[in-house]
Amino acid sequence: MKDVTKFKFGTKAIHAGQEPDPTTGAIMTPIFQTSTYVQKSPGNHKGYAYARGKNPTRTALEKNIAALEDAKYCLCFSSGMGAVDAVAKLLRPGDEVITGNDLYGGTYRMFTKVFEPFGIKFHFVDLKNPENITAYINKNTKLLWIETPTNPTMQIIDIEACSVIAKKNNLILAVDNTFASPFLQNPLALGADIIMHSVTKYLGGHSDVIMGALCLNSDSLYEQLAFIHNSCGATPGPMDSFLVIRGLKTLHIRMERHCYNGRKVAEYLKSHPKIEKIYWPGFIDHPNHEIAKKQMHDFGGMVSVVIKGDKEETFRIASNFQVFSLAESLGGVESLVNHPATMTHASIPKEERERVGVVDSLLRFSVGIEHIDDLLEDLKQALS
Ligand SMILES: *Cc1c(COP(=O)(O)O)cnc(C)c1O
Repeated sequence: MKDVTKFKFGTKAIHAGQEPDPTTGAIMTPIFQTSTYVQKSPGNHKGYAYARGKNPTRTALEKNIAALEDAKYCLCFSSGMGAVDAVAKLLRPGDEVITGNDLYGGTYRMFTKVFEPFGIKFHFVDLKNPENITAYINKNTKLLWIETPTNPTMQIIDIEACSVIAKKNNLILAVDNTFASPFLQNPLALGADIIMHSVTKYLGGHSDVIMGALCLNSDSLYEQLAFIHNSCGATPGPMDSFLVIRGLKTLHIRMERHCYNGRKVAEYLKSHPKIEKIYWPGFIDHPNHEIAKKQMHDFGGMVSVVIKGDKEETFRIASNFQVFSLAESLGGVESLVNHPATMTHASIPKEERERVGVVDSLLRFSVGIEHIDDLLEDLKQALS
């Protein structure tokens, strides 16, 4: 076994958890497409009994993602929502959760439509100032769930400040780290207890897999989450695990280009006459730019804008691109444009989403890793 802990990020991305296949020497971990494993005598096996519980391709992937977050443990799920679901199942009726008011639409939907009916109470709070949390804490509060940067208005939440409050009040702090990826931000190092990733996005990186992950250091939390993982069964298959292992090998290179292109696109759009407002944490006039600078290594490839014009004008622009594809999701090599109000955030009631800036004239860009000249040219023609 290689000691990967001393390696830099890019070396870990390629090598962590990866060993040549013992039977053939294959450098890539094989796709162990099997549901079960033969035992010598009952209970006498090589650590693998049934593939919902464990699969060697998945194990190689989990070790890799754990290394990228400097985490002791990683559990991979069949989707990001499967990972959120597992964390929510740590809760019991009567428990309360404090979370942001600008959440990923699917997380909001799961909290309000699936878990509220089971008697769990959620408070959706403006977390830009973490002091706002304290007013909602009582003896039933168990979990603080935050997302930063937020989707789609790119708010930045101070992870370290949240962790101080969480520790003082005995709350579990979980951070959805999807938008930043472990290349830009490592919440465990800032005091979080659990990191959640939609692996579907930057980690997979090629728009060909749905997957989620949890990373953590606590033995007792791991024991509970691993139990839920195996009991509830939202575990990913070996083919998807293989695709993500492959995707991760270029995560550091892709992220560098996402950040470079993201910056160029943000700067271009900021002074464009068709743009009313722009959300990108790299601008010094972004409300929490200083915190972004403190907790992120760079500002990422996600940029949102409010178009000067109505919904029809915004739709017209969204349908006008040649290089950007109009689609949900983000974090892939190809650039995407998304209309949050009708696409990714349609499950949030209109008043609620408009309160946090998800208006009908908002467009969100996931800036890919194509040549920057082609991206800027495409924006120019679509906006004109
Ligand atoms: C996509 C996404 C999720 C959900 O992940 P899936 O893999 O689609 O289930 C959760 N949080 C954020 C921030 C996301 O972008």
